[in-house]
Amino acid sequence: MTGEKTTNIKVAVRVRPYNEREMEQNQRCIVKVMDKSTLLFDPDEEDDEFFFQGTKQHYRDITKRMNKKLSMDFDRVFDIHNTNEDLFEECTAPLVDAVLNGYNCSVFVYGATGAGKTFTMLGSDVYPGLTFLTMRDLFEKIQSQQELRKFDVGCTYLEVYNEQVMNLLTKSGPLKLREDSNGVVVSGLALTPIYSADELLRMLALGNSQRTQHPTDANAESSRSHAIFQVHIRITDRKTDTKRTVKLSMIDLAGSERAASTRGIGVRFKEGASINKSLLALGNCINKLADGLKHIPYRDSNLTRILKDSLGGNCRTLMVANVSMSSLTYEDTYNTLKYASRAKKIRSTLKQNILKSKLPTEFYVKKIDEAMAENARL
Ligand code: ADP
Ligand code: MG
Repeated sequence: MTGEKTTNIKVAVRVRPYNEREMEQNQRCIVKVMDKSTLLFDPDEEDDEFFFQGTKQHYRDITKRMNKKLSMDFDRVFDIHNTNEDLFEECTAPLVDAVLNGYNCSVFVYGATGAGKTFTMLGSDVYPGLTFLTMRDLFEKIQSQQELRKFDVGCTYLEVYNEQVMNLLTKSGPLKLREDSNGVVVSGLALTPIYSADELLRMLALGNSQRTQHPTDANAESSRSHAIFQVHIRITDRKTDTKRTVKLSMIDLAGSERAASTRGIGVRFKEGASINKSLLALGNCINKLADGLKHIPYRDSNLTRILKDSLGGNCRTLMVANVSMSSLTYEDTYNTLKYASRAKKIRSTLKQNILKSKLPTEFYVKKIDEAMAENARL
């Protein structure tokens, strides 16, 4: 049976604690988390004590007194005390169930450089990020369902840097994108077969070590590239032999700040310009999808071409918008929240994937088979 339903993109906002620089300078807090789904952007300073001591009713009263548009609702707002585990449990664990039920899912982290995207997505050894927690859960669930269903898993890890698409697992590229009647296909991209969570995480680490990272004036840790980690799963029902292929994508976007805020020249400048192009295209697509328009300019950048089916397509999508609460990041935080509010309006129609000969995933199924065969020969 094919389940079909319409749903909105889920949007979570995560507010990170002050960093050292923000702490040293006498900063104003510009984001107040009111409850699990509401935040205020830049409330008046003198209201501060209300926020910290007041009850929810107090908060509501204050919100009413203030300019309405400063109060923003999201599917979930995580404050500085929330951990990566909290985000996993509330946001991505449900996606693992959806994937195993045959729905494509995507998670992407958005925000300015330094806002906490990589901390959220990859984390560290001490604080494992969403990818680690989600992949571990995926494999635990796969393990527990082995008797009923057979799972063939493969992964890819791509980087879009300066509009060039690179394979992070083989450090090869640039790869060409081509469109056929079924969607966008990355030419020459082979799936790496995966048999355990550890292996998947090793691939993730390998890819991360190959990411293009360049320090800039704005932030020494900054990353100017978009990283797209995708897990393709073919699920075969052992009883009925029904096959589905599904895709779980984890996307760490480059910093959303404007190129003008980094004082790069030459190569750096070009990078900034084309990251802007990708993110601008993503913003345009989000705006048009939010307005329910028919023509969506996915073709404007390689990032949006690759993400086409993760935005408004047949996919359950979670966007985590990362922000700092310091007035040092005033404009970035405001822009990110505005962007996230728009994204909330996007609706997608979900279909359970059942394998048919003309599905775009057929390409990947073939690749899984080839990769499995190749592996068997080794
Ligand atoms: P981005 O990937 O958006 O550029 P990072 O994830 O690298 O930003 O975060 C910048 C810095 O802030 C890192 O040192 C990171 O460890 C820290 N950080 C980010 N989010 C949090 C958080 N929720 N709690 C603690 N530290 C955080
Ligand atoms: Mg980062």
